[in-house]
Order: sequence, then C-alpha cells, then structure tokens
Amino acid sequence: MEIAIIAHDGKKAEMVQFLNQHSEILHKKGIHLISTGTTGEKVTKAGFSVNALMSGPLGGDAQIAARVAEGKCHMVLFFRDPLDRHPHEPDILMLMRLCDVHNVPLATNPATADLLVKAL
Ligand code: PGA
Repeated sequence: MEIAIIAHDGKKAEMVQFLNQHSEILHKKGIHLISTGTTGEKVTKAGFSVNALMSGPLGGDAQIAARVAEGKCHMVLFFRDPLDRHPHEPDILMLMRLCDVHNVPLATNPATADLLVKAL
C-alpha cells in the first residue's frame, strides 16, 4: 500500500510529530511511503524510508496526483497550511480533486490523518 505524505512549511513540525506518534503502524510491512521533496527530507530524518518526489512548488503535488490517477497511490496525508499562500495552489487543488475522482482517502489535517492511519 502506497501512502503519500505532504506537509506545507508551516505544518512540517506537526507532520514529524505525527510520524513519531504513529511510527509503529507506519513501519508495518507492506506500507510504502512517498512524499514531496522537502517533506521527504524530514520524513527521512524522522527515521522512515520514503520515496521523495519533487518539491511541491516544482511539481511534487502534481506527481503524487498522477500516481493517484494511475491507481498507484492509495492514501494521501496532506498537512495543509490554510493560513499561508502557495504558488502551486492549482496543483494542490488537482491533487485533492483526483483523490475525490478516484475515491482515494485524503486527510487534510492531522486529526483526519490520525483516524485514517489508525484504520490501517
Ligand atoms: P515540499 O512541498 O515537501 O517540497 O515542501 C510541499 C508542498 O508545499 O506541497
């Protein structure tokens, strides 16, 4: 099962905290993590193996969206910062739309991510 993790800059610390709180579940066999570029560096530092794609503003969200559309990515944990502006807003909207099109579980805040991961 492939799970994508993305965190906007204002939410990266919270994302790392989330990973540490759920490390037992996320280290389970069969779970493969992917992420956007800078998020991936933090995920790696937190002790997880992750396939980091491009940085979000350079197309990382779009790459994850493509994997969702292709049926390769099965869950998206998106730690969005709703209080900041993002140059790649169109890519973010595309990712969320494609999760809905393909009925892929999408968390856009830590509380929902917690519920999704606990359901694994
Ligand atoms: P980043 O991208 O992990 O490269 O910071 C996240 C985003 O802003 O979509």
